[in-house]
Amino acid sequence: MKTETTIQGLSASLSSARQSRKTIGFVPTMGNLHQGHLNLVREARKICDVVVVSIFVNPIQFGPNEDFDSYPRTLEQDSNLLADVGCDIIFAPSVEQMYGKNKRLTTISVSEITNDLCGAQRPGHFDGVAVVVTKLFNIVQPNFAFFGQKDYQQLAVIKQMVQDLNMPIEVIGVPITRAEDGLALSSRNGYLSEEHRATAPAIYKALKAAETDLKNGQALTDVLAQIRADLTAQGFEVDYVEARSPMLQTVEQFDQDVVLFVAAKLGKTRLIDNLQVSHSA
Ligand code: AMP
Repeated sequence: MKTETTIQGLSASLSSARQSRKTIGFVPTMGNLHQGHLNLVREARKICDVVVVSIFVNPIQFGPNEDFDSYPRTLEQDSNLLADVGCDIIFAPSVEQMYGKNKRLTTISVSEITNDLCGAQRPGHFDGVAVVVTKLFNIVQPNFAFFGQKDYQQLAVIKQMVQDLNMPIEVIGVPITRAEDGLALSSRNGYLSEEHRATAPAIYKALKAAETDLKNGQALTDVLAQIRADLTAQGFEVDYVEARSPMLQTVEQFDQDVVLFVAAKLGKTRLIDNLQVSHSA
């Protein structure tokens, strides 16, 4: 496994793979890797000849009061984990390598589906994601790119962007990896106090209970209100509880497949989760 920190170095490392038409799989991350990330790499390993993982904490997707400075940077530990799951190349550029010294005048904005859910509380966040993912796609030029369903809205935004702009990349969504108690794995879980960590699985429990209630015929609005009440009673500060179609259109009732979305804070830590509920099964 190689680690490249410059665009030139990465291009040189990938040139023979490109010449021999090997398929390149790409997993973009911000590092501090856990099994959720590693499962994306395992999926890439299954179907691609060469697997590239980027580790880059992208400043332009963080709001002014968010955790960019304190976001955990653990490159050595991440490298060891990646070597074990068969990553071929780590791309770990500096901010300067990615953004250069000159002012950036171009942005990429996916409309409509970025306005609500996480977009409402995090203005500019998805523009920052779209810009960095586009830059990384242009640098790596992968055939396949792997994103987690944990960040469902992000995955939908990337799929939309790739379709709208004819990017020659197949985007693959990978199911959420959870701890045994149901908590969706996240780098931010490390911020939770012991007490909050014990409370955090309530989000997934509430989503699973909602799934059962929906399948038993309860009204969607009541089910969403129940999740909110449950979590609030357990000390969460609920940011949103919403239902959408798989392509993030609004839904009024459970007459099609829906995705249930929760964002809620425990102390200062904001947790997100979602659950796809199929109408047929
Ligand atoms: P991040 O480092 O948080 O930007 O995440 C990098 C990628 O890993 C994104 O595509 C995330 O959706 C994905 N990811 C993070 N946590 C999980 C998880 N628990 N299950 C599946 N994918 C995840």
